[in-house]
Amino acid sequence: MIYLDYSATTPVDQRVLDVMTPYYTASFGNPSSVHRFGQQAESAIDSARETVARVLNCRPDEIIFTSCGSESDNLAIRGAAYAMREKKGAKWILASRTEHPAITNTLKHLEKYEGFLIEWLDVNEQGQVTPDTVSKAICDDTAVVSVMYANNEIGTINPVKEIAEICKAGNILFHTDAVQAAAYLHVDVNELGVDMMSLGAHKFYGPKGVGALYIRNGTPLVSHLTGGGQEFNLRAGTQNVPNIVGFAEALRLTNEERENRIEHVRPLRDKIIGTVLETVPDSLLTGDMESRLPHHASFVFKDTDGNLLLTLLDAAGIACSSGSACKTGNPEPSEVMNSIGLSRDWGLGSLRVTLGNSTTPEHVDTFLQVLPGLVENARSLKKK
Ligand SMILES: *Cc1c(COP(=O)(O)O)cnc(C)c1O
Repeated sequence: MIYLDYSATTPVDQRVLDVMTPYYTASFGNPSSVHRFGQQAESAIDSARETVARVLNCRPDEIIFTSCGSESDNLAIRGAAYAMREKKGAKWILASRTEHPAITNTLKHLEKYEGFLIEWLDVNEQGQVTPDTVSKAICDDTAVVSVMYANNEIGTINPVKEIAEICKAGNILFHTDAVQAAAYLHVDVNELGVDMMSLGAHKFYGPKGVGALYIRNGTPLVSHLTGGGQEFNLRAGTQNVPNIVGFAEALRLTNEERENRIEHVRPLRDKIIGTVLETVPDSLLTGDMESRLPHHASFVFKDTDGNLLLTLLDAAGIACSSGSACKTGNPEPSEVMNSIGLSRDWGLGSLRVTLGNSTTPEHVDTFLQVLPGLVENARSLKKK
């Protein structure tokens, strides 16, 4: 099997697994315990927090460890919404139309059960939120703005720094979901100027089930997982020590090896984009060509069932993914395909090909050889 779905998840780097293992057995203590077992676990978390803080260029006490990227998004959005409603009666939350469901479904929930009002920010045809869109939308009544750093479906990178500046000038909290971006882009929070930023380890060769939220010092936030006083009273629950240790090591390695990893995937990615557009009739690149994650290629094929294509690719030994949320019997193009202005006949035929550390030129060549025939098969099967 050839794995070309690194944006869905990555394998755990052996070096990461090696530093995690002792914390399952020999050093198993509860970090909140007073005795030495506890102290040992606590010091592992402290040192993980310092490692993460160095990569993010912030203070260790501005990092909250969570159970996943989704939880970080929830804590940021719910925490800021409740805090800003309490503080200044704010009731608007602004977010781009192309956010991950961890954001969009959280907002729909806050709208339905908590009475918040949501303004969905439009994106351009490349899937970018322009700074201008944000500056026209914010007002005194805005609790928080959330715009993702890079999109998971189409790889588009947003001008987060410019958007953060606008929010800062308007005294509005700004959160960015960097779960997809962190594998390749710099996540220096001071350079970016964000108030909050979500990360998840399994997108950069760390374990599943651990995330982090950066929260700029002084940002008002209400905890939503209540209980013990862990994580500076912002996230109750005994910390997952091995996962937190793994998170930090995975992020450290990602930061250290960033340039090499980019140099490895980018030429392969460019070959995929060039060849697919050339060899598959009625194909389009989705997202932006320049402002795009270096490991990410995404397409739409006209009059093609994207899910059927994935099944054919899987049968040919290649794992990719699609952008369309497959609802049984009634497939609909994803929100992202709709928001970049694609009609249904294009939007249903999406394909995402994402590369990683173990991708070889041979993998890419095999994929490029079989794809045109499989798209043709998918198209003719759809007509029947
Ligand atoms: C994967 C992903 C998430 C969710 O992260 P989990 O750790 O799987 O909960 C959120 N946002 C983006 C952009 C993602 O790619």
